[in-house]
Amino acid sequence: MSDRYDVIVIGAGPAGYVAAIRCAQLGLKTACVDRWSDVKGKAALGGTCLNVGCIPSKALLDSSEKFHEVSHTYKLHGINVENVSMDVAAMMKRKSKIVTMLTRGIASLLKANKIDSVHAHGKLVSPGTVELYDVETNEKQGEITAGSVILASGSTPIELSSIPFHGDRIVDSAGALSFEEVPARLGVVGAGVIGLELGSVWNRLGAEVTVLEALYDFLPTADEEVAKEAAKQFSKQGLNIQLGARVESAQVSENGVEVTYTVDGEEARLAVDRLIVCVGRRPCTDNLLGESCGVELDERGFIKVDDNCLTGAANTYAIGDCVRGPMLAHKGSEEGVAVAERIANGTGHMNYETVPWAIYTHPEIAWVGQTEKDVSAAGGKCKSGKFPFAATGRAKAMEDTVGFVKVVADAETDRIIGVHIIGPHASELIAEAVVAMEYYASSEDLARTIHAHPTLSEAVHEAALSVDGRGIHRVN
Ligand code: FAD
Ligand code: AMP
Repeated sequence: MSDRYDVIVIGAGPAGYVAAIRCAQLGLKTACVDRWSDVKGKAALGGTCLNVGCIPSKALLDSSEKFHEVSHTYKLHGINVENVSMDVAAMMKRKSKIVTMLTRGIASLLKANKIDSVHAHGKLVSPGTVELYDVETNEKQGEITAGSVILASGSTPIELSSIPFHGDRIVDSAGALSFEEVPARLGVVGAGVIGLELGSVWNRLGAEVTVLEALYDFLPTADEEVAKEAAKQFSKQGLNIQLGARVESAQVSENGVEVTYTVDGEEARLAVDRLIVCVGRRPCTDNLLGESCGVELDERGFIKVDDNCLTGAANTYAIGDCVRGPMLAHKGSEEGVAVAERIANGTGHMNYETVPWAIYTHPEIAWVGQTEKDVSAAGGKCKSGKFPFAATGRAKAMEDTVGFVKVVADAETDRIIGVHIIGPHASELIAEAVVAMEYYASSEDLARTIHAHPTLSEAVHEAALSVDGRGIHRVN
């Protein structure tokens, strides 16, 4: 390991490791400092996303969805399976294997790109100077310097002081990815993306799940019709989602957790075996910034950056969950690429208007751009076209017909300004919409694009045709 670099990246989550790789590709001598350790105390790269986020949650969502399908939908295909059971330990082992494989994959990528991977806690003490501390003893190990520093320290779950985490009874999202058995009664605080995904996993495996959400609106940032359909489908699946339910406290006993919450000022109680608290995440900046390093935080604790991810300190950038914008892995990665290119070449590209969102429940939900409500709130005018999956041959063949695609276009120019999907493989289908928006496509462009038959993507095509009232497989 050297002590002088072109770039030091602090954090090896999807924002940091991607930034480091792009820096190295551009010929910059790069070090990536990350403190995450696995159960054996060894470095585990990939941050929240690989270790306790996107990847393990999707592994469990896929396992639990398969279990649910075998138990419920296989018979519709004429497949009779008896005595279906779930081996939770095997499911968890598979999840851990995937995580290990992928975190090791990042280590290999860093090595192949000749990036020095440093397992330590990093602290920016002044622009260009990073102190390194032992992850276990917290003792200072040394100091490295660089022309530029990229802060990619990520985020951690918010803990409510009224409901502190408690062993395996009251847990955060990471705890909920490691239950050793299916709890009979499970409470989830917060009906955000993470709460819904984790609630779905355990609900499919047989837990009685109650989700308590303080807001009266369900999925307020999603398209209203999408949110309504999602609420209907989740409740059909047995997820008991209580809106307007603000959790005030939770009492742990030998038998479980008693949760106290209020609905319209009235106190109510819920007894569960385990409680997952998913009330959001906060930027992680503990002991990251020396007093005179010049980097400032905003009132919510995020690192203050400009449109180019530059902080107030010279040649110091910040990206990913620790800065403003959606807390999504791909948003951080894209910022990472853009910042690396700015450092090397002076310019980089990041389009915040085309960051896709995805919720990996069943049905899946995905969107990009604005909703009709956003457009009218901003005083604009739009037109939209909608098409149900039930009218596509492929969804019928798959026995997966819930949901629809909605394309929103500017009323005057026809430019696509939003696409909203609820239904099978929505998280994959949204990519077409992102590409279309990135290329400033009109709904007419999408309508004139040939889509293979029979595919789910025909629903996107038909929704685009429907913007102009000319969907073929529906009565307009
Ligand atoms: P992180 O992934 O949090 O990585 C930051 C890294 O920096 C960590 O390794 C941390 O240990 C390290 N670090 C912090 N401070 C220091 C320091 N001072 N010195 C050294 N190292 C430090 N997003 C999606 O896009 N899709 C999903 O499906 C999805 N699912 C999710 C499911 C769950 C259960 C959770 C919790 C999150 C999910 N997310 C998902 C969000 C996603 O994980 C985050 O947006 C993403 O990980 C942010 O990347 P990041 O690199 O900014 O930070
Ligand atoms: P997200 O920010 O998308 O991760 O979602 C977190 C959700 O938790 C939000 O919808 C919040 O309204 C909800 N929430 C926060 N605090 C509470 C609380 N005390 N009781 C119930 N829901 C809460």
